[in-house]
Order: sequence, then C-alpha cells, then structure tokens
Amino acid sequence: MIRLFVPNDLSAGAGVAPTVDQSRYLTQVMRLAVGAELALFNGRDGEWRATVVEATKRGCLLKAEDQTRPMETGPDLDLIIAMVKRSRVETIVEKAAELGARRVRLTMTRRTNVDFVKLGRLDAIAMEAAEQTGRLDVPEIADPEKLDKILDAWDPARRLVFCDEGGDAKPAIEALAGTGGPAAILIGPEGGFAPEERERLRELSFVTPVSLGPRILRADTAAISAMTLWQAAAGDWR
Ligand code: SAM
Repeated sequence: MIRLFVPNDLSAGAGVAPTVDQSRYLTQVMRLAVGAELALFNGRDGEWRATVVEATKRGCLLKAEDQTRPMETGPDLDLIIAMVKRSRVETIVEKAAELGARRVRLTMTRRTNVDFVKLGRLDAIAMEAAEQTGRLDVPEIADPEKLDKILDAWDPARRLVFCDEGGDAKPAIEALAGTGGPAAILIGPEGGFAPEERERLRELSFVTPVSLGPRILRADTAAISAMTLWQAAAGDWR
C-alpha cells in the first residue's frame, strides 16, 4: 500500500490535503481514484488507513479512516557526519532513514572542506526513505554545527561511537557488545579527523572509539557499516 508522510494531525474523519507534488504522485503517477486506499503517518499519531475522497486535475483530498498502527519509534540513535560532497551526504541521509537513525546531525571539523548543504532536499530524501521503510517517524536533519560546539554541549548519558580510522581502536562489534541506551555515531570527513580532534575525542568519558576494519572506508560506506553494526549489537536488530 502507498504510504505518505503528512504534517497534519491524524484522527478518524480528518481531512488531509496533500502537497502539489504528493497529489501529482497519487493521481498521475499511481493513478489513484476516488475510493482508493493508502496509509498516512505524521511522526506523532501512528499509521492511518485513508481514502481518496476527491481527485481532480488541481489536486486531491484524503480522509483518515482508522488507525492501523499505534505510534512507536525505533532506538535512540543519532548519526553525526562531517560534511562531505553532496551526493554522498544524500546517500548517507537516505541510508540513515532506512537503518533507523532518529536524527542526522551535520558537522564541520578541522578538515571539512564542504560548507553548503540544501537542508530542504535532505528533509525530502529522509521523508521518502521513511515512507518506503514502513517506519512511523522521519529522521530529523539538524543544521550543521562545529564539532567542538557539539562536544561542548554533549549530554554524557548518550554514548558517542567514534569511528576512528586510526587503526588502534577495538573492532566495532566487540566495543559495542553489551552496550545500550541513547547513542550517536560519529563519522569524519574525507580527510579524516585532525590529530587534536582525535585526542580530544579519545579523552572524553562518553566516547567509545571503534574500528571498522583494516581498510579505510569512504564516509558513506563507513556510516552504513557503523549503523548496521550498532543496530546488530545494541539496537533493534537483536
Ligand atoms: N583520509 C582518511 C585516512 O586516510 O585516514 C580517511 C577518512 S574516511 C574517508 C572518512 C571517515 O570514515 C573517517 O574519518 C572515519 O570516521 C570513517 N572510517 C573510514 N574507515 C574507517 C575504519 N576502517 N575504521 C573506523 N572508521 C573509519
């Protein structure tokens, strides 16, 4: 069944007017007509069966009928990625949504050499991936921030899984075994972390440095690998 993320509150009988793009997708691409069913979610009210109640060339109108799934969210996992080139950031955001991250935070490190990102485009990518996976929320994409600022404001109750390409960290699967609770995964830029960043990270009590094996991975591969390992060791794949 088609799943659509909408910002509206969802309750029995609630009318929902999709955006122009969503209407076009429903009526022109998927050819839904009046009476057709689809699923709606908004990140707050679970998932709802809905029907098309009006379909014209100008758009369509939907009505929420009944709740089919109560609201639930996955494990409390953030992904923090140093800004890399646009196509890689987009892949990372899509995969983060598929792999169950709750939030993607973009960061600038000493060696980050990309400073522009289209947040609206990343929001749209996260939303489409969430629609496709069946999850009931859409990961939030946070505004870029400097790594030092993120670390200064860190809540020590959240474990920071530092993907350290230096070669002397424990293998991720060992380091993450038996861990639980809120976590964030940190991935560096193409140039890696500067020595002083590595030093600071490794001194912080809430940081768990991990290795992703003997090969240096690109940032997108590293992000996907680390999220997979975390989900298997400490998340909802157990
Ligand atoms: N230029 C760096 C170098 O050659 O050492 C490589 C940086 S890598 C392309 C980007 C990021 O992916 C790293 O900063 C790290 O966070 C993560 N990463 C890549 N390979 C890794 C590995 N084998 N173990 C842990 N983290 C890794």
